[in-house]
Amino acid sequence: MVYNGFIKCEVCGAVTRIRMQVGWLDGHPIAVACQKCGISLSGKVNIDQDNCGMSFQFTELGKEIMTMNTNQLQDLIRFLNSHDGYSLKELQRSIHSIMSAFTKVFGALIPAYALQFFRERIDYDTEGTTTSSYEEVKEFYIDAYETLGNLLIIPVALNNILYRGNYDVFGKIKVQ
Ligand SMILES: [Zn+2]
Repeated sequence: MVYNGFIKCEVCGAVTRIRMQVGWLDGHPIAVACQKCGISLSGKVNIDQDNCGMSFQFTELGKEIMTMNTNQLQDLIRFLNSHDGYSLKELQRSIHSIMSAFTKVFGALIPAYALQFFRERIDYDTEGTTTSSYEEVKEFYIDAYETLGNLLIIPVALNNILYRGNYDVFGKIKVQ
């Protein structure tokens, strides 16, 4: 049986149509991208096999974000959409792209990654890694730096909304 339904995005208010093949499981996860803003709407589908019924539970998108004023979030999304490369879809694409690049260089970075679990002192004058060279990871480093820099706009804007009511109202910095 194919289920047809509609879900409303809590962030931008757009309604997205979902079509889903219902099988013999009692439930399964569901993740749908909002057709307008691209945010991931995810949750769980509960299927009542005995009484032929279905229900959805969508995870709240982070309580603090959802208690923010919808107009303020819509202003932010409008602002992001009006700048090339900063729409939620483009930012999500850049995350996927850098994750893909990460999986390609991860083998070379394993020793560096494992350092966070190593408790003994390392003498970097005499010890090092033989799995990667500067040239090998340079491109990834540059791309990751740029991607993380571009993504900073999201936490900064949400912080501005949370504490000052608007994405572009920044806190004052005291110069000493
Ligand atoms: Zn949306």
